[in-house]
Amino acid sequence: MRTDTGQVFKLEDYRPNDYLIPQTNLTFRLSPDATHVTALLTVERRDGVSVSAPLVLDGDGLTLKRIEIDGKKVKPADMLASPDQLTIFKPPAARRFQLLIETELAPAGNEALMGLYRSSHVYCTQCEAEGFRRITYFLDRPDILSVYTVRIEAMRDEAPLLLSNGNPVDKGDLGDGWHYASWHDPFPKPSYLFALVAGNLGQLADSFVTLSGRTVELGIYVEPGKEKLAGYAMDALKRSMKWDEEAFGREYDLDVFNIVAVSDFNMGAMENKGLNIFNDKYVLADQETATDADFANIEAIIAHEYFHNWTGNRITCRDWFQLCLKEGLTVFRDHEFSADQRSRAVKRIAEVRTLRAHQFPEDQGPLAHPVRPRRYREINNFYTATVYEKGSEVVRMIRTILGVDAFRAGMDLYFERHDGDAATIEDFIKVFEDASGRDLSQFALWYHQAGTPNLTISSTHNPAAREFTLEIEQSVPPTPSESRKRLMHIPLAFGLIGAGGKPVAYSGVEGASVEDGVIHVRKRRHMVRFSGVAERPAVSLNRGFSAPVTLAVEQKTDDQFFLARHDSDAFSRWQAFNTLLTDALIAAFREILGGKQPVFAARLTELAGSIAADETLEPAYRALALALPGEADIARDIGRNIDPDAIYAAREALALAIGTANRDAFSGLYERLADKAVFSPDAESAGRRALRNILLDYLALQPGGAALAAGHFQSATNMTDRAAALAVLAHRHHGSPEAIKALAAFETTYGSDPLVMDKWFQIQASVPGPQTVDTVKALTSHPAFSMGNPNRVRSLIGTFSSANQTSFHRADGEGYWFFAQTVLEVEKRNPQVAARLATALRSWRSLEPLRQAKAREALLSIAGAENLSADLRDIVERTLA
Ligand SMILES: [Zn+2]
Repeated sequence: MRTDTGQVFKLEDYRPNDYLIPQTNLTFRLSPDATHVTALLTVERRDGVSVSAPLVLDGDGLTLKRIEIDGKKVKPADMLASPDQLTIFKPPAARRFQLLIETELAPAGNEALMGLYRSSHVYCTQCEAEGFRRITYFLDRPDILSVYTVRIEAMRDEAPLLLSNGNPVDKGDLGDGWHYASWHDPFPKPSYLFALVAGNLGQLADSFVTLSGRTVELGIYVEPGKEKLAGYAMDALKRSMKWDEEAFGREYDLDVFNIVAVSDFNMGAMENKGLNIFNDKYVLADQETATDADFANIEAIIAHEYFHNWTGNRITCRDWFQLCLKEGLTVFRDHEFSADQRSRAVKRIAEVRTLRAHQFPEDQGPLAHPVRPRRYREINNFYTATVYEKGSEVVRMIRTILGVDAFRAGMDLYFERHDGDAATIEDFIKVFEDASGRDLSQFALWYHQAGTPNLTISSTHNPAAREFTLEIEQSVPPTPSESRKRLMHIPLAFGLIGAGGKPVAYSGVEGASVEDGVIHVRKRRHMVRFSGVAERPAVSLNRGFSAPVTLAVEQKTDDQFFLARHDSDAFSRWQAFNTLLTDALIAAFREILGGKQPVFAARLTELAGSIAADETLEPAYRALALALPGEADIARDIGRNIDPDAIYAAREALALAIGTANRDAFSGLYERLADKAVFSPDAESAGRRALRNILLDYLALQPGGAALAAGHFQSATNMTDRAAALAVLAHRHHGSPEAIKALAAFETTYGSDPLVMDKWFQIQASVPGPQTVDTVKALTSHPAFSMGNPNRVRSLIGTFSSANQTSFHRADGEGYWFFAQTVLEVEKRNPQVAARLATALRSWRSLEPLRQAKAREALLSIAGAENLSADLRDIVERTLA
């Protein structure tokens, strides 16, 4: 484990290394406790660099066994080797030389899951961001591109399968039960994309013929016996390969493409060249074990990692400050893929919900940072919603500003100009400027400036002058270390809507540049005047969520109800209803704090009923509309002095009011939606299940609700329905005989399937109420739970801390104390997972004063622990700052 050196890395300090490593030959002799790695590196001094420049290689906890230059042993006086660095004081005068380094590793004891480790007896690697330096000394930075040849030697019994990047070139027997395989990757790549897998795995094989007619062998490797469960992932992979050819003109480039699923993995998946390594959660699925959400995630993540082959691998990042260059862009690409495979409107709403739930709190709290950060202490902590999700929104805005054709021309230019490069955000922006002739310098602030911009908007109509005016004012709130903000270029899509939902025409516009339904907000204040507008329109704003901003709109409630029924933009229609729900919930929250019973307007509960019954809307869309804003969403909109118990009570009261007002209609619809067809994971069938399951959630609060949910649980023919019913029983009827019975039945049926048991942990960790702290404590001793496995930790501890507002924020602080102790326990094994968990307290300053004080104490207790890792110290100190 690397302890904190306190070193801060700064963007402005970037300079190329004095040396390059054009070729890397690696030989692994695998053994759980003593793997030998021999790296033969061709090192090249860069032009103009002095011959006396030392060569300094990165390491992390390494044991050096042998070192030679051009076949000769390096004398101890000519070098300095520590576990974390190798310095060769005076490399040979020749421009190129061969450096041989042998290191010894113990993969079986590697619980941080970075570098080379073992997961269920399978050797595997994770090198992004700085894991390669845990394998051998190297220039472990993304701008060092090298051609890799890898030879793996292992006991055949222990590891019949030997995989690495690129194409297979050789294999054979070594005697004494040993064998070997060699792989060669012709594409120069940075070390973070190196991968190796060795073990006994089952294979699902298929092939794909590319646009130019080349056949690519596809393999998905899983625990033996689980091959059947990889069918959906394989299907998603083939659809991804085809889509990237059609949508971006990108063809796959190697002869093989392999995916390996492992059960211990810090992230979702990793895009290593030609050998993607996945968390098995994002590969294995069938109707019995996976929910519709799991299927959708598998499709999206398979696509994401595959798309990285061009955006990340062929064109990589110059340094880690440019992380969004590959991540924001690739998230944008996977979002587009899913939108094309599923429903565009539903996908967009889901994306925005995710952005608001994860990125907005980051941007509005102590961990705020620009999409392209300027400094970091621990790069592992910058794999954030800001880099990924907001990074994707920034790419989307470029397309909105340029239009589809110029955007595609810019992307084509990017691939043409930068293939084989380690590029920067400046390079990326430049291709769009060159392809479109537009100036994006003000727009580029989206990469450089943190914080969620706000637009305050009001409107006036002057019937005599036939003029409609929008007054728009932008502000960007201060964020840590950026107190003064510059004005942004915000593309605000809009629509003026008249009676009956028809668009209102206007004859002219002044006060801002307006094109194709988009107002380009660039100044602090715009008065946008539309002329020739006879009747007062309702205005639909930020259509399709064209910019990741918050809006403060002065709008009549009647207009909001009108838009919730008539807006022709599906996203904005959803947004109008969601805003009405949020406003009602905030009002109810205040009434509850004032000791009153909240009352909800009849027209709001009626509107919920009419949306549920509207057959012109897709079921998935109706399900999203009926999903009330989450407790954390409401808290974010309230902003400060948060009392999670009052928010919970407000939300329950609204759910009860909507269910009561629409009981018979919901009940009838629930019956009609019962699926009699054979299970299919397609989006339309999933949408029907989603709608039916949200209706169940409302009906569960009505008389007979527990029995209805218990019946739903028992008659379920797939995991989506079964898990939904279990959650409804556990949450709405906590402690009831029906809930206890269903939890026990689920445990009995799936006790030996860790991925399904994760759902069981999640459901129990999210049960509202103070008692859940004790439940979660007890579940840490459950035989299916393990502090060493990231999926288990995230299911139980992650769900408790990020998705259980009333229990985590229990008034006596017990939730925080338990959490602090658990984070420190996880950290001993896996600092990265611990640091990610700790971000659950990032919004502590928005709590009411008593909880705030208790949360701070818990954070201080983490900060005060001895030998804190760099990962965790960085998060906790920034959260407290
Ligand atoms: Zn990625």
